[in-house]
Amino acid sequence: LTKVAIVGRPNVGKSTLFNRFIGRKKAIIHDTPGTTRDRNDYEVNWKDKKFIVTDTAGWSGDESVFSKDMERQLNLAVEQADIILFVVDGKIGIHPFDAEIAKQIRQSKKTAILVVNKIDTQAEETKGYEFYSLGFDEVVFISANHGRSINELLDKVWSNIKYDRTTKQAQEVLKIILVGKPNVGKSSFVNSVSKEERSIVHDAPGTTRDSLTVNVNFNNKDYILIDSAGLHRGSKMKDDMEYLSTLSTDYAIEDADVAVLVADASQGIGETEVKIARLLHEKRKPVIVAVNKWDLIEDKEQAAKYFTEQFRERVKFMDWADVVFISAKTGQRLERIFQEAEIVYRQYNRQLTQEELNALVRDAVARKPLVRKGKVLKFKEYAQVAVKPPVFIFSVNDLELLHFSYERFLENFFRERFGFHGTPIVLKFRQFF
Ligand code: GDP
Repeated sequence: LTKVAIVGRPNVGKSTLFNRFIGRKKAIIHDTPGTTRDRNDYEVNWKDKKFIVTDTAGWSGDESVFSKDMERQLNLAVEQADIILFVVDGKIGIHPFDAEIAKQIRQSKKTAILVVNKIDTQAEETKGYEFYSLGFDEVVFISANHGRSINELLDKVWSNIKYDRTTKQAQEVLKIILVGKPNVGKSSFVNSVSKEERSIVHDAPGTTRDSLTVNVNFNNKDYILIDSAGLHRGSKMKDDMEYLSTLSTDYAIEDADVAVLVADASQGIGETEVKIARLLHEKRKPVIVAVNKWDLIEDKEQAAKYFTEQFRERVKFMDWADVVFISAKTGQRLERIFQEAEIVYRQYNRQLTQEELNALVRDAVARKPLVRKGKVLKFKEYAQVAVKPPVFIFSVNDLELLHFSYERFLENFFRERFGFHGTPIVLKFRQFF
């Protein structure tokens, strides 16, 4: 993973920025094993990329001169990093140490972004202009304290991270896997959208021969469509049980970005669909439910209502998934599946800002305070720590106060406010000490 180091002289706001990055309360995230006490590495997810951010130690010794020791510490940090965030104090202006540090960084020839901190408002940005004289191409004006332009900074970091070869394909082209018991119409779906240009590209790495992978182009966008159990030793599988057992061991689901649970309109949502849904839920994938063979249905309005209710009732844990009615035979609404895939994948990657989260917690507590045996549940710290899927960690004053229905309420509250349409989200609770 790409390593990002935050460097700069004392009191410019390195730690505050660091805490912003890690989402952003140190206390609830564990140190990487093997790191020393004065250097912590944390993994940060931003959009579809990850990087490691290193919290370098403060300067030791006399702070009034740029000592050999400072130089050594700086060089160590720079040497170990791929991208350097050089933080300066925009309120104070250029400090003699800044010029020293700038020189060292330039000598390293590494990618560096100059971060002018403590710029609390747009108007203050002009104050930071003098820092351009330090000679860095990439400059961002931020306020680590106020959270201003942090996303912009993260975007700059993001654009400097190279995709590694193995993940490249997954990043650029959505991988959509069709899951559903035999004969629901998965291969008809693939045939219908890939038409005569259909080509068998290759098996996705790690998948068994049970998955068939094809490239399709829809609305001028490329997708990889995976028909789970598309090829089964040359012939198709007959049996639901056999399908389920291969599906659970097949790496294809893990490898996919979005799953489409295909059901048959002439049969509805049965036991097998529930089992497949459970599997997708365990693997925490975004899901779209596609009820196929819609062309066979006469009273479509009635049936749509019936299938949606049936799914909601039988697959309660996936009430966030949309149900779409399609026909692989006529091509009806197949386009919708691709549009939905884009939407749910974006939700799957969604990162809330700390401000959004603060407001959410505040309002949730106001809407439904949790009081048991005279004690009030309090959220002491909370942060979004991951995407794909979004994971939130809450440290609470008393874990014993929590119960499932409150967790459920909170998840619904998240969805009510932020949607998280089509994607699972994970809420974790910890005891605050
Ligand atoms: P798979 O096992 O899930 O890949 O299912 P297939 O694609 O092989 O389809 C099973 C059967 O359903 C075949 O006879 C298809 O012709 C039929 N079928 C698939 N999609 C549709 C559809 O949208 N409408 C109708 N009427 N039949 C379909």
